[in-house]
Amino acid sequence: AAGELAPHVAMLVTPGMGHLIPLAELAKRLASRHGLTSTLLTFASTASATQRAFLASLPPAVASRALPPVDLSDLPAGSAIETRMSEECARSVPALTAVLADLRRTTRLVAFVADLFGADAFDAARAAGVRRRCLFFPTNLHVLTLMLHLPDLDVAQPGEFRDLPEPLRLPGCVPVPGPDVLMPLQDKSDPCYRWMVHHGAKYRDADAVLVNSFDAVEPGPAAVLRRPEPGRPAVFPVGPLIQSVHSKGGGAAECLEWLDRQPARSVVFVSFGSGGALPSEEMRELALGLEQSGQRFLWVVRSPSDGGAVNDNYYDAESKRDPFAYLPDGFVDRTRGVGMLVPSWAPQIRVLAHAATGGFLTHCGWNSVLESLAHGVPMVAWPLYAEQRQNAVMLAEGVGAAVRVPEAKGRAKIAAAVREVMEGVGRGAEVRRKVAELQKAAADGLRDGGNAAAALAEVVGTWMRGEDQGDE
Ligand code: UDP
Repeated sequence: AAGELAPHVAMLVTPGMGHLIPLAELAKRLASRHGLTSTLLTFASTASATQRAFLASLPPAVASRALPPVDLSDLPAGSAIETRMSEECARSVPALTAVLADLRRTTRLVAFVADLFGADAFDAARAAGVRRRCLFFPTNLHVLTLMLHLPDLDVAQPGEFRDLPEPLRLPGCVPVPGPDVLMPLQDKSDPCYRWMVHHGAKYRDADAVLVNSFDAVEPGPAAVLRRPEPGRPAVFPVGPLIQSVHSKGGGAAECLEWLDRQPARSVVFVSFGSGGALPSEEMRELALGLEQSGQRFLWVVRSPSDGGAVNDNYYDAESKRDPFAYLPDGFVDRTRGVGMLVPSWAPQIRVLAHAATGGFLTHCGWNSVLESLAHGVPMVAWPLYAEQRQNAVMLAEGVGAAVRVPEAKGRAKIAAAVREVMEGVGRGAEVRRKVAELQKAAADGLRDGGNAAAALAEVVGTWMRGEDQGDE
């Protein structure tokens, strides 16, 4: 099958820019470092304008193809996004089998990669005769450890995680208090929980797991997972894979021009990812907390989550209502000059790379965390959903790269956390030092011979050897 064609990889992307962006980065790196081409396979449910623009901006070595739509109308209205993604994937297996069989005919297909909610697609890869099955885990080694242990925990620990009397302790990991454990696991009667247990078991069907993390940010689980273990796929931390080019969005130029006029390291960037929104009461306290902190801020303001879920905007980041209408009276006037408000979306990478940015108040979505670390920006942690609370624990209590805002989110506590990080006082001094160290470790790992570069080269090596074993 070899011939002149470049080796090719098919990658299944479950919905969400937070899954697409790092997988696209992986595809780009496979092309530039290893000469592989790829096809990103996307679901019909996420054919948003943002996603289309993003896919169109990718280099020619990275193609994309949308799977045919599947009917999800029988799912209950309140179904969790994780349930929707998992169902969409499971129901797409027949179509995906046909697509992979077609790619095997038309390309030199060496491997299939699925992301964290796409492990059911390994059945399609098997049926289509693709030799190598690989899981791409866009979040971190702590969450991967939990997922791999989940089928056993499900049996050993019948109660709800939030009721655990002691923090959850897993090999190498920072102990996580029950209520901070991965949100989709917090209600065992929800179908979402069953799906997660299913995925955890299905991960064992992979030959290898590529993880978008790096050893220095979570040395404990890195040491454990890098050791081979019978019955568990080999684990390769290949991150941080972060966005290098940025798709254009509304308001981009305006906020970058504003940053150009601010002193170095003086601005705290405030953003809750592509889908996050706060309840209106917390949004109000945040506004007053930022004001009270006396720091300059650039805030991506979303309409509050009242009446909806905290991840209401997940499939479509455009806020539906006027978000500024929910700010406290007089806030905009009082903070004019020190504060810049952007509705819905900001060019986050460029903001984090800007010399004026000195801190990041973040929801701790893993891409945001990696982007912050890669640019040496210390964090204020304000987690919302998914695995964000766990990430906050690991960052604030583990490696020490963030100060977490306490649970009862009043303006004074918010102001204090922001000031610690921005002024380098209290815990802020150590956080700033640690983040500088992690920035260097992240960059070193990705250079030739670095940990992450070597891990990816090793996986590519197994794909090429798989091909040598011959398919026909
Ligand atoms: N992002 C952005 N502008 C925004 C909000 C988000 O560019 O206003 C990007 C951000 O840089 C990151 C991704 O969207 O790459 C969000 O991923 P993350 O894992 O942090 O959070 P999620 O959106 O999955 O909750």
